[in-house]
Amino acid sequence: MAERVGTEPSVFTRILRGEIPSEIVLQTDDVFVIRDIAPQAPVHLLVIPKTDAYRDVTEVAAGDPKLLASMVEVARTAATQAGATDFRLIFNTGAGAGQTVFHVHAHVLAAGQQHEHGVAAPAGLDERTMTGGMPDGEEA
Ligand code: 5GP
Repeated sequence: MAERVGTEPSVFTRILRGEIPSEIVLQTDDVFVIRDIAPQAPVHLLVIPKTDAYRDVTEVAAGDPKLLASMVEVARTAATQAGATDFRLIFNTGAGAGQTVFHVHAHVLAAGQQHEHGVAAPAGLDERTMTGGMPDGEEA
């Protein structure tokens, strides 16, 4: 487990505080968006609540469903801002599913304007699972 909420600040909290450099491309009162440092698709953004109170999407859904709805709305806005009309919204949930930062965040993955094929799955996930819904059934 790379990060533990409640012990020391998560990497995302440290980015929000300006302790680790990363451009915040969009923010609201409750949520901020950065580019993933290791992009798995032409558009790969992370939508992150400013609070680190929730480790994963199940916790934020139970504890603050309005915040989860805000994350989805901000994901839509951030994807549009990045030039994507359609996008994938992925919450790795648990280490076994590839979650490495235990401060809830959504991956926004999109092909962008210059990429006509499917997008890759984030590290740790089965690409075939991730690409199962692609209209053309193409490997990512
Ligand atoms: P997870 O694996 O927990 O679903 O996603 C964590 C994501 O955070 C990974 O895709 C990883 O590349 C990204 N990440 C980790 N550290 C940093 C960082 O310092 N800056 C940025 N921009 N992204 C990071």
